Amino acid sequence: MDGVSPQLSPKIALIGFCYDENSSFMKGAADAPPQIRAALRSDASNLWSETGIDLGADGVFFDAGDVEPVAGREMFSLIEDSVRTLLSDNLAPISLGGDHSITYPIIRAMRQKYSKLSVLHFDAHPDLYDEFNGNRQSHACPFARIMEEGLVDRLVQVGIRTINGHQKQQAEKFGVEMIEMSRWQDDRTLDFPTPLYISFDMDALDPAFAPGVSHREPGGLSTRQAIGLIQRLRGKVIGADIVEFNPRMDPVQITGTVCAKLLKEIAAKILA
Ligand code: MN
Ligand code: MN
Repeated sequence: MDGVSPQLSPKIALIGFCYDENSSFMKGAADAPPQIRAALRSDASNLWSETGIDLGADGVFFDAGDVEPVAGREMFSLIEDSVRTLLSDNLAPISLGGDHSITYPIIRAMRQKYSKLSVLHFDAHPDLYDEFNGNRQSHACPFARIMEEGLVDRLVQVGIRTINGHQKQQAEKFGVEMIEMSRWQDDRTLDFPTPLYISFDMDALDPAFAPGVSHREPGGLSTRQAIGLIQRLRGKVIGADIVEFNPRMDPVQITGTVCAKLLKEIAAKILA
């Protein structure tokens, strides 16, 4: 990864993870990064956030490119090292693509920089399984690993609509604050006094809005509801990931555009 030009001193680094080895049901999330970049740069829209920030201005984004997969546990080390490098250049990382297992090594790197850290996790699923199909690194498990290691001080989950007995126990054990979809309120505001990382699993959205996911779960957030919650957040956002977009499940090619839209509103929040 190249260093960053001091003249430009960008604030945000985009980094793609072409990786879906820990997907339990369907591959395809590895194909997401170039699709999200293309949607972000598409002439169909512009690079202004709804909140009035020009993300196309010089010095906003540094694109660190894509990290290609390597075999086995080495991949998690590679992800952690990649994010640590960006943080050491004082860049706020926004990770694109991949299955949700990548969030565990990303948070390991974030924790080394931030001694206080909260995570806001958008997802249909709590991803708190102790193991899934015998795989403790499964995309169904990252938040169990994160909480076991004490990597975050506070985990708030929104959009959840698939909880079962085991994951309910795990949430209680780890003190997870879960806002289930059945209790959703449109005007909800969340306050985070410590640095905040946003992990956005695209299946948090209703599949009517974002069909390009491996695990379609009806009854989810609208794009507007998700954007509204992000815009109303109180706290300092210091990084994010947008995961689980599966282009193979995206027949009308809308989901990449939704990823890019979320990326813009999250980036604007980082810069605010
Ligand atoms: Mn997930
Ligand atoms: Mn999910």
